[in-house]
Amino acid sequence: MKIRIALAALISLILLSPLPASAGPVYVFPVTGCEVNYARAHHDYPATDILAKSGCAFVAPIDGVIDEVNRVDTWSGRVNAGITRGGLSVSLIGVDGVRYYGSHLRSIHKAIQPGLEVKAGQRLGAVGATGSARGTSPHLHFGISWPTPADTWWVRRGAVAPWKYLDAWKAGKDLSPVKEVAAALKKAGEVPPEPKK
Ligand SMILES: [Zn+2]
Repeated sequence: MKIRIALAALISLILLSPLPASAGPVYVFPVTGCEVNYARAHHDYPATDILAKSGCAFVAPIDGVIDEVNRVDTWSGRVNAGITRGGLSVSLIGVDGVRYYGSHLRSIHKAIQPGLEVKAGQRLGAVGATGSARGTSPHLHFGISWPTPADTWWVRRGAVAPWKYLDAWKAGKDLSPVKEVAAALKKAGEVPPEPKK
């Protein structure tokens, strides 16, 4: 008798438990606590510039592991070397296998270093105008791509258009770029040739 009651309780518990909204990871808009503005276009390649006040928090858009960190701004307008354009930047590899990159940062949180595990929403740094954004309105350059060997800046800066995902994450929906990134990787190859600009 006791077993039947326990079994009935267990079955009703299973039936009453709400199903999870999605089986995939949780995504978070990468700038928090500030008013933001971003366009549905970007010069030369797919990425998004998220305009926000200098110092606004740049946070991890997903649980993951920190990939590359650049704490020194070596950009020179005269040379304009591709690898230096991001200024202070952080990339992470999400639990979804996608790489997320934020650049032109004013500062990077001191604990953030390659290999560190981070949680969605965890503060990585602050929005700024370093690198090729020097003298422009502070913004977070946000790029979505597949992981590559270190310093492959021309993939890291962005390979698929992020605004569809940003819109969804801002609305609290966990839209994943995994399929689009996989398709872009298949088309381009892991390390496509370095572009002229
Ligand atoms: Zn940009």
